[in-house]
Amino acid sequence: MAVMKTKPGPGAELRHVEIPKPGPDEVLVKVLATSICGTDLHIYEWNEWAQKRIKNLPQIMGHELCGEVVELGRNVKNIKKGDIISAETHIACGHCYLCRTGLAHICMNGSIFGVDIHGVFAEYAIVPATNAWVLDKKIPRDYASVMEPLGNAVHTVLAGEIVGTTVLITGCGPIGLMSIAIARLSGATKIIATEINEYRIQLAKKIGADLVLNPGKKNVVQRVLEETDGLGVDVVIEMSGNPQAIREAFDALRPGGRFSILGIPDKPMEIDLGKSIIFKYITVQGINGRLMFSTWYKTTQFLSSGRLDIEPIVTHRLRLAEFEKGMELMRSGNCGKVLLYPEDETSKT
Ligand SMILES: [Zn+2]
Ligand SMILES: [Zn+2]
Repeated sequence: MAVMKTKPGPGAELRHVEIPKPGPDEVLVKVLATSICGTDLHIYEWNEWAQKRIKNLPQIMGHELCGEVVELGRNVKNIKKGDIISAETHIACGHCYLCRTGLAHICMNGSIFGVDIHGVFAEYAIVPATNAWVLDKKIPRDYASVMEPLGNAVHTVLAGEIVGTTVLITGCGPIGLMSIAIARLSGATKIIATEINEYRIQLAKKIGADLVLNPGKKNVVQRVLEETDGLGVDVVIEMSGNPQAIREAFDALRPGGRFSILGIPDKPMEIDLGKSIIFKYITVQGINGRLMFSTWYKTTQFLSSGRLDIEPIVTHRLRLAEFEKGMELMRSGNCGKVLLYPEDETSKT
């Protein structure tokens, strides 16, 4: 059984699929849990980005994975049957300029589960051995699936100075929420978040934001300046992809600050380069994926140490067959992370 995108257009179908065979450098995993990402929702809804990006239909959706290794390709040496793994979802070629200079996460010939190749919303999935991340035994196993987006948050928050800083996190979807938790653990001294959805505003408070502003109700720039003695925040972590939020965040950032962006705007947008960036002498930084694999080591440390509690962010556990309900939750915004379980494992973690 797998959640398959069968044709261009909104929706997806539950289909019976054969158990795939791993190639020499791959492993076959029995999927124990997977989670829904914003990307999956875009593909499900078939937005403009998905229409341009998705080429290989029919295709199994999904990329965030917790799986048990059940079969090894003949060249695989460092993974054992029975290992519980997560997966780095950017599959790098290992040969291009970027791969060979420490930038494998933006490989020029890379492919992504559930986007370019079959994904993991299924009972079984194939993972290249180099992309498998064997889970530390101290980490609850279904969190393996959440380590991929959590890695996005770790990568973004730690991409510059964070200790002793004031931080504005725009957008409190799951990765925004995770960023609040990571910023707090990493020594940020004031964390202001913005969000319009009431459910997520409450989650942001619960996970440790000092102040959550609703841009629909409050003047964000003015409130941020009040909270920072008129200076603006040291760091912006952009997680919304919303042009209005992005423009306001530029105004809320102090001169000389850091602006790290993971949120993706739907369309090209206009920014006043002179006013927002050049004269303010700020650093704008695009963030993509996770550093392979230093982000994974850090994410593991955060979780295995017990210092990071992501349970408040994991708000729903559903069966894979209920994926439509999961997509609906994601669309409404009345959720944090939604986990899907191919078997009825929702009660055991
Ligand atoms: Zn993801
Ligand atoms: Zn490459």
